[in-house]
Formats: sequence, C-alpha cells, structure tokens
Amino acid sequence: MRVLVTGGAGFIGSFLVKEINRAHPDWEVVVLDKLTYAGDLRRLEEARFEFLKKDVVEVSPQDLEGVHLVAHLAAETHVDRSIKDPQNFVRTNVLGTYALLEAARAAGVEKFLYVSTDEVYGEVLEGEADEAWPTRPSSPYSASKLGGEALALAYWRTYGFPALSVRPSNAVGPFQYPEKFVPVIVTKALKGEKIPVYGDGRQVREWLWVEDMAKGMLLLLERGVPGEVYNLGSGERVENIKVVEFILRVLGKPEELISFVEDRPGHDRRYATRSDKVKALGWERRVGLWEALERTARWFAENTWWWS
Ligand code: NAD
Repeated sequence: MRVLVTGGAGFIGSFLVKEINRAHPDWEVVVLDKLTYAGDLRRLEEARFEFLKKDVVEVSPQDLEGVHLVAHLAAETHVDRSIKDPQNFVRTNVLGTYALLEAARAAGVEKFLYVSTDEVYGEVLEGEADEAWPTRPSSPYSASKLGGEALALAYWRTYGFPALSVRPSNAVGPFQYPEKFVPVIVTKALKGEKIPVYGDGRQVREWLWVEDMAKGMLLLLERGVPGEVYNLGSGERVENIKVVEFILRVLGKPEELISFVEDRPGHDRRYATRSDKVKALGWERRVGLWEALERTARWFAENTWWWS
C-alpha cells in the first residue's frame, strides 16, 4: 500500500504518519505539505516517509502515481486567523481539496479520507450531534472545511469516486502549534504571563488525545465506507475555564494568571458529537480527557525547544 498524507507535517497529520508506520511497517507513506508557518518536519523525526513539498492547490495526477489511499489533512486551521483573513482558508481548504480530488480521481486512488471537523455543525447547544445533524458552520474556517467536505462527498455521488469524511473533535497532544488553545494556556502559564480566556470561559469543547484520533483516522482509511461521514470524538466535554484551571494546577501556577478577554465573534458555545458509527467499526478512545491534558501540559513544560 502507498498512502499519501497531506498536511503530514502538521500536528495531527504527523501522528497519523507515525501511526501508519507503527501499524503497517510495510506501507509506503508520502507526506505532501507546503510547510506553511504551521508545518514542521521536526514532528516527523522518527517517522519513515517520502516528502513532497508542495502546495495542495498545485497538486497534479503525477504526484499521486501509484498511491492507493489518501488522507487529506492539509488545511489552514486557526479559527482566529480565518476571522481576520478568510482568503487563504477558501484557497487551501476549498480549492486545495478540489485540486486534490481531481488529481486523485485521475490517478485512480482507491480511498480518499477527507479530514473535516466537528465545527461544521456549528454550536450544539443541547444533546449530541450524530452525522445526520444539520451543518451550520459559524466561522470562515468551519465554512471552508464544510466546502471541501461537500466537494469530496459530491465526487462520490457524481463520479463514484471513493471519498468519505471524518469530523473529529478538538485534538490535544504534544507538538501542537503554540497559537492553539491548550498550548497558549500552557506556554503562557510557564512564562508567568496572563492567560487570555475568551468571554466567560464557559464554552464547552470535546477533547480527544491526538494518538487516539490518529488511530481512528487509520481505521477509517482501512474500513470506512465511501460516501459516509464519521464523527470522531471522545464524548468527554468540559468548559474551557475548567481546562485552564486544571492545567494551572498541573503546572503549579496561580489562578491569578487567568485574564478574561473580549469574546471571539461568532464563538460557538458548545460542541458535542456522538461517535457511535466509528465505534461500530472497532474504534475506542484509550486516553481520557484529564490524562490527555496532563500529558500535554507536561510535554510542553519539558520541551521548551518546541515553542520558545
Ligand atoms: P495544523 O495547522 O497543525 O497542520 C496543517 C498542515 O497543513 C501544516 O503542516 C501545513 O504546512 C499544511 N498546509 C497548510 N496549507 C497547505 C497547502 N496549501 N498545501 C499543502 N500543505 C498545507 O493542523 P492540524 O491541527 O494538524 O489539523 C489537521 C486537519 O485536521 C485539518 O484539516 C483540520 O481542519 C482538521 N481538524 C483539526 C482539529 C484540531 O483539533 N486540531 C480538529 C478537527 C479537525
């Protein structure tokens, strides 16, 4: 098997590459990545892969020659950046997905996993979103992710191209880019700086240990059904402020560092997914929420080279 992982130099993509190496030592892995500010090959120091430095918008069928499976993670991913400047999000997340779908279809790829997000549901104020829940993205980021997903699923309906989509919840783990929520809390706390918390901090998020997420994605590459959508979440939800307080306790830092700041425009109040469908294929989360947060906080504390 030859697998192409786009965005493989990113946070989640790098864990997927390492998971494929571990589970299938005989598979060839190709990482396609533009190495934007968010991409970093140091995440892959112990991995086995071929590297193709490329903008996904410019991908060609030749780049996919001999590729059987595609996991498409390359994306602009930071919601705050999408609010300030959506253009790159539309370019990479929508046009990039289109370009990759065209190249993969021409190359005769056998399965194409589009990595979407649970943010496509918008806020889920009550209950849990299953895959049939209406999509109502709030940010330019989540709207662009849904655009890419819609194209991938339309390629199945229209051309019989074997695309499927996974909608993961928030990932937590080592090597995340320092601008994201958990790394911001940890690194600010370690530096003794004020920790900005949006609004009242009572927004609810569902967290999943990044290695459990990578395992779920590999399972879907292997056993996911084309044309289908799969949620991938732990079901473990907590208010943002509780995450901040917990990390401060782990690091032995004072709660006085917490600083409430003006809320993000269009900030979703709550995300909640039901992941029974992927569980029915044999997936389960192994690392619980608090352990995942504690491991992550300690990793950042021990690996200042990554973020300082
Ligand atoms: P990340 O920002 O850490 O990594 C993105 C990677 O994509 C980087 O290596 C970057 O260089 C690459 N990239 C960006 N634009 C590119 C382009 N035009 N051409 C080629 N490569 C490009 O992101 P992440 O957190 O690892 O997220 C991976 C995927 O998972 C994304 O599609 C994201 O939308 C989705 N997702 C992430 C989360 C999360 O909690 N992090 C949750 C749900 C879904």
